[in-house]
Amino acid sequence: MPDRHRNFIHGEWRDARSGLTFPDINPSDTDDLIGFFPQSGPEDVDDAVTAAANALPAWRRTPAPKRAELMFRVGEIMTRRKEELSRLMTREMGKVLSEARGDVQEAIDTAYHIAGEGRRLHGITTPSELPDKWAMTIRQPIGVAGLITPWNFPIAIPTWKSFPALVAGCTVVLKPAEDTPLCATELVRVFHEAGFPAGTVNLVHGGGPDVGAPLVRHKDVGVVSFTGSSEVGRQIAESCGRALKRCSLEMGGKNAQIVLEDADLDLAIQGSLWGAFATTGQRCTATSRIIVQRSIHDRYVERLAAEAARVRIGYGLEDGIQMGPLINEGQRTTVAKYVDIGKAEGARLVCGGAAYREGRCARGFFFQPTVFDRVTPSMRIAREEIFGPVASVIAVDDLDQAIQVLNGTSYGLSSSIYTRDVAGAFRAMSEIECGIVYVNGPTIGAETHLPFGGWKDTGNGHREGGVSAFQAFTEEKTIYVDYSGRLQRAQIDNQPALESRP
Ligand code: NAD
Repeated sequence: MPDRHRNFIHGEWRDARSGLTFPDINPSDTDDLIGFFPQSGPEDVDDAVTAAANALPAWRRTPAPKRAELMFRVGEIMTRRKEELSRLMTREMGKVLSEARGDVQEAIDTAYHIAGEGRRLHGITTPSELPDKWAMTIRQPIGVAGLITPWNFPIAIPTWKSFPALVAGCTVVLKPAEDTPLCATELVRVFHEAGFPAGTVNLVHGGGPDVGAPLVRHKDVGVVSFTGSSEVGRQIAESCGRALKRCSLEMGGKNAQIVLEDADLDLAIQGSLWGAFATTGQRCTATSRIIVQRSIHDRYVERLAAEAARVRIGYGLEDGIQMGPLINEGQRTTVAKYVDIGKAEGARLVCGGAAYREGRCARGFFFQPTVFDRVTPSMRIAREEIFGPVASVIAVDDLDQAIQVLNGTSYGLSSSIYTRDVAGAFRAMSEIECGIVYVNGPTIGAETHLPFGGWKDTGNGHREGGVSAFQAFTEEKTIYVDYSGRLQRAQIDNQPALESRP
């Protein structure tokens, strides 16, 4: 009998007030029912936000290094449980085991990085323009943070948000994706075991409109951090805008890899395969466009198609499997629709293009690695996010045109250039309009201690990762301390530094 799971509110596991549940299934094998999770509603959100608001005063007064010690323990527990969590993730989300291990490792790295930052959380001290006066800044928690996350990095992404929020002194309510509720539940168990006080971490399962939207709108939520589609992100930004509420958005991508004729082509091909087909193309940083210089284009496409056709598809817990399923039938329908759109637009399908149903894969949402050639920048498959294993190859004359094509979408998350020309690489680093640029590496592979986020329709200026991660969850306070014992008026009483000369 599959387990029945609960929300986590004020340190207790609770059913949804409605008593309703929804099923969680394995995308590699739809006969495998993982469990049932509460189908919550606004009343459960309200309970969780109230718990978080009640826990806030004591938590924000806890010194940041002490909050960080708990986060260090989170890292220790996750390290101990890494293999178990990774296997559970492959079962629930579908990514192959090596990648699931990477997802959990990213969470561990984030725990240690953010725990370390708890002993810094630097403000600035700077001289005042007036004598006997100090000037400095500190960062303070905004309050209750509402965290809304997608399914593609079902442990790492919730940690990118919750870890800095908690170490900054916010309390949190997490609303994870409906497709990966178990990973979020296990993450919350880790917080619980580490000793986070009741109410500091709360979890509410359920749908976007039923749980996500009320969380965004709740008057006691001071900041919203969202990762997901640009469509939903826009709605969240509108709702937060009306309430003048802080929101940090990480959204879609249409990432491109440039390959110039002087590149190490073996390396570039490996980069294309990893960038386009890892996580079945379901990474926000996945390579969905490959911009190739015309002189090497035919050779490149031929090799890429041959290698893509060799990718081993299947259940990610089995040895040797390189690519798992799509997350659900809806996503498979979307990917198939884009294949039809590509063909109708006149692109040439050089490999894949259909669902994969060999053997026991018939029970999952598998799709073949797919490569389109003769794609032009104006085609929909070159502009819109597909979020599946589909790469579109676009031929260009030179570096200038490559950068122009790369910049020609509404998104700006990740990018990559393969070349041996140092000057060309530096020009690309300067002119590419994206939050992330890789030189001689694929578009995927972010490290947690560097800022992560996108330009244009991908984001709204905030960053996760690095020390920037704290900015979304804190307000900056500027403090002046005047110990002169007299009224000193800035800009009025400040004397010229030097006597004026004759
Ligand atoms: P999604 O936007 O459908 O859902 C994301 C989350 O928002 C889910 O928890 C969902 O339940 C919730 N949600 C849905 N409607 C809502 C509403 N009206 N109000 C509040 N919450 C709502 O996205 P998805 O399909 O889960 O994830 C895929 C998308 O995420 C892709 O576009 C991908 O590029 C993006 N993504 C971006 C990043 C990044 O860092 N830029 C990282 C991973 C994924």
